[in-house]
Amino acid sequence: MPANKVDLKGMPIEELEAFFSQWGKERYRARQVSRWLYGKLADDFAVMTDLSKEFRALLSLACRVSSPAAERIDVSSDGTEKALFRFEDGAAAESVLIPDEGRRTLCISSQAGCALGCAFCATAAMGFRRDLLSSEIVHQVCFFSRRLAARGERLSNVVFMGMGEPLLNFSQVSRAIGILLSQHGFCFSGKRVTVSTVGIVPEMQALAGKYPVSFAVSLNASRDDQRSLLMPVNRKHGLKEVVAAMRKIPLQSNRKVTVEYVMLAEVNDTPEDAAALARLLKGARIKVNLIPYNEHGKSSYRSPRREVIDRFRDILLAEGLQAITRERRGADIAAACGQLCADIR
Ligand code: SAH
Repeated sequence: MPANKVDLKGMPIEELEAFFSQWGKERYRARQVSRWLYGKLADDFAVMTDLSKEFRALLSLACRVSSPAAERIDVSSDGTEKALFRFEDGAAAESVLIPDEGRRTLCISSQAGCALGCAFCATAAMGFRRDLLSSEIVHQVCFFSRRLAARGERLSNVVFMGMGEPLLNFSQVSRAIGILLSQHGFCFSGKRVTVSTVGIVPEMQALAGKYPVSFAVSLNASRDDQRSLLMPVNRKHGLKEVVAAMRKIPLQSNRKVTVEYVMLAEVNDTPEDAAALARLLKGARIKVNLIPYNEHGKSSYRSPRREVIDRFRDILLAEGLQAITRERRGADIAAACGQLCADIR
């Protein structure tokens, strides 16, 4: 595919409008094309039959719609599906579809690899390759929307919880979010799009000011010394700063920020840790997701026993916090939290 053609996938509606206006086209043309791209998941201009033949010819001459095939797809015994996408330069990223009763949640990647080096995460072990483009981020959603449509199902939620730190790829991630939320794009409500972050504070505030998306913040510890060992980024954005920023996120009625806390046996799982976490979060509009550690062979952490996790959760509940234990999904295909590393097995 000639690289000099402009890729329309990944362009938010305002960019499409600006682009077509250079050709002297009306604004509604951009909306029409956008609906084809994301509403109807078209990747071929020939099918866009409400556009004139002449406009379609112009589009195929100057533009393209990137649509990389999945290099492999794994299906878990619990119904979770993982796709590996390889892009033109060889960089790879994975996405995970998690079916759960009525919900179809897609977990997408924002970077190929990750630069944060968290001690317990498999993505960290692969290192950082590059930021994904908005086209590559949105494509993960297009790909699974089409796969679901073929069996009469629809995507209900999108979570930026795959590879990478979304807020360190702010510009491409916010273009992609623009498309997910736009009425001319995927039409998701902000409630159903969640950005998970370690707490890159300035970008967290900027994104919260720009889009009404939901936030999940990976705390994973209740003290700075402990968090800095697990997550080097804590030396830049410490617990107090992250929690303060979290408390400032504007929330619509009865919405909450999710706090993620990976449970690591004999590291951050004691009753004292639970009590310290509860103190840190007192009065904040949050819900805690406890994530039992998923093993992956790139580190030697273990998950606490169920009773230990339950005891931890019960302390949070007794302190008046909302807390649940995240169910482990897709572990048999290395698709669970913290297992994504684009291994070519
Ligand atoms: N960088 C962002 C987006 C990735 S989300 C963030 O950290 O929030 C991935 C989630 O899985 C994070 O909450 C992370 O703490 C958690 N995680 C990483 N490795 C894990 C593992 N091995 N088992 C369980 N959870 C893990």
